[in-house]
Amino acid sequence: MEFVIVGGGLAGVTAARTLRALDPHAGITVLEAEPTPYYLRPGLIDVLAGRKTLAEITPFPRAWFERQGIAYRSGAVTVALDPAAHRVELASGEALPYDRLLLACGAEAVAPGIPGEKLPGAFTFRSAADAERIRTWAEGSRRAAVIGGGWLGIESARALRDLGLSVTVLERGPWLLCRQLDRGAGEVLAGLLGAQGIEVRTGAISEAILGESRVRAVRLAGGEEVPADLVLISAGIRPRTGLAAAAGLAVGRGIVVDNHLATSAPDVYAAGDAAEWQGTVYGIIPAAREQGEAAARNMAEPGSTAYRGTSPMNRLKVAGVDLLCLGDTQPRGGPLRELRAAEPEQGRYAKFVLGPEGELAGAILLGRPDLAPTVEELAASGLPAEDDLKRLLNL
Ligand SMILES: Cc1cc2nc3c(=O)[nH]c(=O)nc-3n(C[C@H](O)[C@H](O)[C@H](O)COP(=O)(O)OP(=O)(O)OC[C@H]3O[C@@H](n4cnc5c(N)ncnc54)[C@H](O)[C@@H]3O)c2cc1C
Repeated sequence: MEFVIVGGGLAGVTAARTLRALDPHAGITVLEAEPTPYYLRPGLIDVLAGRKTLAEITPFPRAWFERQGIAYRSGAVTVALDPAAHRVELASGEALPYDRLLLACGAEAVAPGIPGEKLPGAFTFRSAADAERIRTWAEGSRRAAVIGGGWLGIESARALRDLGLSVTVLERGPWLLCRQLDRGAGEVLAGLLGAQGIEVRTGAISEAILGESRVRAVRLAGGEEVPADLVLISAGIRPRTGLAAAAGLAVGRGIVVDNHLATSAPDVYAAGDAAEWQGTVYGIIPAAREQGEAAARNMAEPGSTAYRGTSPMNRLKVAGVDLLCLGDTQPRGGPLRELRAAEPEQGRYAKFVLGPEGELAGAILLGRPDLAPTVEELAASGLPAEDDLKRLLNL
């Protein structure tokens, strides 16, 4: 059996490892466009900040893949897929046959179409090469603007700050991380970033990046100019669907897969940031890992393993601060009952949303890792929890 995997990121490598464990004799080839060895993408934040080298975020050296009998081919760009002939074609002109194929080609950073986004000094951030480019540019820069206040934007802002730049985060929403946090928590987080020397501007719609031969400022709706000699655009991801679409596979926001991670073409599977399952593109590590593994199991034995979705990440570190988000944190139609303790001076915020029976239906904990285990346990129990929660907050 010949297995071919397009994309040597987490989903692809997890699939390759799973396939090897299931079948010691199969041919396994991973085609990776980037010239580098496999690395852990979240580690790029540390590379950008100068805390780690690329080698330090490379978990398996080339020799490891060789020992596993997995052909990991860096710099191998797949340019076409022919599902009827069971063949992929590389940029080099080489054609590679497969029995079963996995599309694990990930996603790219969205360039939102802001005028000036192609100017020297304006970047998006996805790859090791991006980290290198941004870092090099930062060496000659003093002021950075980060467009987008999601967690990647915030973490990138912090890395740039660590490099000694003064940094402004421009978030168009009313507060930071507005899908995960409520306004109170968003404001506490902005305060924490402010204490680290990162300015946060909310309700800031970036209309254009200004400059002639290089970036000079970001112009906001309303006309104000925020000076910047480095602009990092962090406006979300777009799954790489081009290869699949050109081959006639069903594509929505991502490459559409069923509960076995199978695409609409026979013997072709998809996983990770490239895949859309039940309308969802997760774009997170746990989903890439779980889908990569489930896809591999189904490639080895079709129909053997159902994928049932990945729980959204609920524990994060943002700007060095622990964050836990559980359940419904901003119920529509207003909460039934809420308990809240905000300590902005300490950078701490806790909110609990109670359900109809007094059970814990949702929670936000910022800077309170001490409460997290108890809160997770109370939420899982489904039992009335108001008295316990009040005690936790000393109310
Ligand atoms: C800086 C940064 C920090 C992050 N931190 C976190 C975090 O803390 N927690 C978290 O959950 N998620 C994080 N993420 C998101 C996480 O990295 C992704 O969800 C994860 O990498 C998805 O894995 P994947 O294998 O599906 O895609 P990718 O990691 O994108 O891998 C896909 C690979 O396919 C290759 N490829 C694409 N097209 C082709 C082609 N035609 N031919 C050959 N190869 C091709 C690409 O070069 C790429 O290496 C972060 C992302 C970034 C950019």
